[in-house]
Amino acid sequence: MEQKRKTAREIIEGYDGPKLRIMEVCGTHTHEIFRLGVRNILPENIELISGPGCPVCVTPVGFIDEAIWLAEEKGCVITTFGDLIRVPGSEKSLAGARAGGARVNPVYTPTDAVAYAEEHPDEEVVFLAVGFETTTPASCMAVKQAKEKGLKNFSILTANKTMTNAYRALKGSADAFLYPGHVNAITGADSCAALVDEGIYGVVCGFTAKEILTALAVTITRLQEGKPFFMNCYPRVVTDEGSTAGKRMIEEVMEPCDTEWRGLGVIPQSGLRLRDEYAAYDARKKFGIPEMKGRSNPACRCGDVLQGKCTPADCKVFGKGCTPLHPIGACMVSDEGTCAAWYAYKRDVIE
Ligand code: SF4
Repeated sequence: MEQKRKTAREIIEGYDGPKLRIMEVCGTHTHEIFRLGVRNILPENIELISGPGCPVCVTPVGFIDEAIWLAEEKGCVITTFGDLIRVPGSEKSLAGARAGGARVNPVYTPTDAVAYAEEHPDEEVVFLAVGFETTTPASCMAVKQAKEKGLKNFSILTANKTMTNAYRALKGSADAFLYPGHVNAITGADSCAALVDEGIYGVVCGFTAKEILTALAVTITRLQEGKPFFMNCYPRVVTDEGSTAGKRMIEEVMEPCDTEWRGLGVIPQSGLRLRDEYAAYDARKKFGIPEMKGRSNPACRCGDVLQGKCTPADCKVFGKGCTPLHPIGACMVSDEGTCAAWYAYKRDVIE
């Protein structure tokens, strides 16, 4: 008689092997896994750890200081995604600078910032370009648009990051990764498939309950088999090669560079900066920003949280000094931040 196939949930709930550590790299996954109650069905020997896939969380303190310097010393109008405004810098956040008179405007898209610059030719407008391969093409498009329009009062401050070398830097932090499907929609499944030869394993994961459970069940099954593995569990969106148009846009406007990740330090060739052809739109070059070594609050353990070395509950100020209303570190600010997720869904750990 044919044996009944197990459902993804049965595979997860029924796992009774050695301890497995699986890292959900993406902040959206962290929140969805909490929201959908996936953690509630995990056996004790499966640990889900949250990785550095929240763009606001990995943006270093020094970047916030650079943006504040541009606003306060050069009188620039800073345009940015809303989350970044509340991230603490060494002395204050952009919200703090705005309270002191600096001009900081939230925008929905980088091209909104270009439109603002076009409408206000007497103002120097700087867009804070953060994020991974998902958001970088839009920043590149904004720069191209500004160049085509001949705008002289628009530039971007880059902290764009790419994921592949971050996976290399995180090798050993977990037994396998749940790769962020929206990043792979741009980079393609092949970018992660190639990591198998380097001993880095994982599956590309979508964002619905079914997709997350399937990705987890596949990861557990493959880890039990004990062989190298990769699987694209989000094929309705992610192709092997990814978005040719998105990759071409990035390639045309930006080039790889070393860059600092909050908590992870400098990861070689994991960042993107503007190519020389677009140097006029590079705020660092345009305004000669001095080198800034940001200082984070010594109580904050964002760096360890982002590497899966501890949970937010291990941070002494979690839910006490540090809350979404009064964040001490970046991981409590963003909707995608791990500390914000724990605060929303697991506040019972606060003593
Ligand atoms: S709870 Fe706050 S201070 Fe602690 S690690 Fe998270 S963001 Fe940093």
